[in-house]
Amino acid sequence: WQLCYGFGYSRVLAAIIAQHGDDLGPIFPPWVAPIQVVIVPIPYKGREAEVYGYAERVYELLRGGYRVKLDEREDMTPGEKYYYWERRGVPLRVEVGPRDVEKNAVVLVRRDTGEKFSVPIERLREEVARVLEDITRSLAERARGKLSEQIVDVKSLEEGARSIEEGKICRVSWCGREECALSLRNSLGAEVRGYRYDIEERSDKPCTVCGSQGRTYLYVARAF
Ligand SMILES: [Zn+2]
Repeated sequence: WQLCYGFGYSRVLAAIIAQHGDDLGPIFPPWVAPIQVVIVPIPYKGREAEVYGYAERVYELLRGGYRVKLDEREDMTPGEKYYYWERRGVPLRVEVGPRDVEKNAVVLVRRDTGEKFSVPIERLREEVARVLEDITRSLAERARGKLSEQIVDVKSLEEGARSIEEGKICRVSWCGREECALSLRNSLGAEVRGYRYDIEERSDKPCTVCGSQGRTYLYVARAF
């Protein structure tokens, strides 16, 4: 048995983002979203061809740079499509209606905040890039907050066992000896997830198991 894996911080973050969407469902971070941008035409009577033609132009503009879907289904209203794609976690929606055709613009709607704004078509690509980046950043910040709420520092094995029972992730000071890691696993009844590899964490506290000088922190949790 060897402690050869890291904490998987970014993997855990991604899992948390997927778990903690909102009431509508998940919100995919743009970099993992199967569809990053969905285009929903809003055809008014008598102006369908105009709107669909414009929506296709928007699609062509974005197609090379993003995973984009043009939703041309005719048996659904635009409102039903909004709901459909929101529930599937698509991070960004582009709405295209007759007024947008006239203004040579589109409306962007963020899945994470619901924020809506009009963007001129000549700035479409850079605005989509900017908004997707912003969504990525704000989802990561939210997930980091959630993750740190789940991590508790424990000073004894009893305290650790209780926290594991509550579904927390325990951060424990560790001397670096494998037998202490093994003993942690056995007495907490959970897996040792390793240490963070995105930052170096030096421990100045005694090892939670044997009491000798701690070297780093281990993370212990049940399956994520
Ligand atoms: Zn130890």
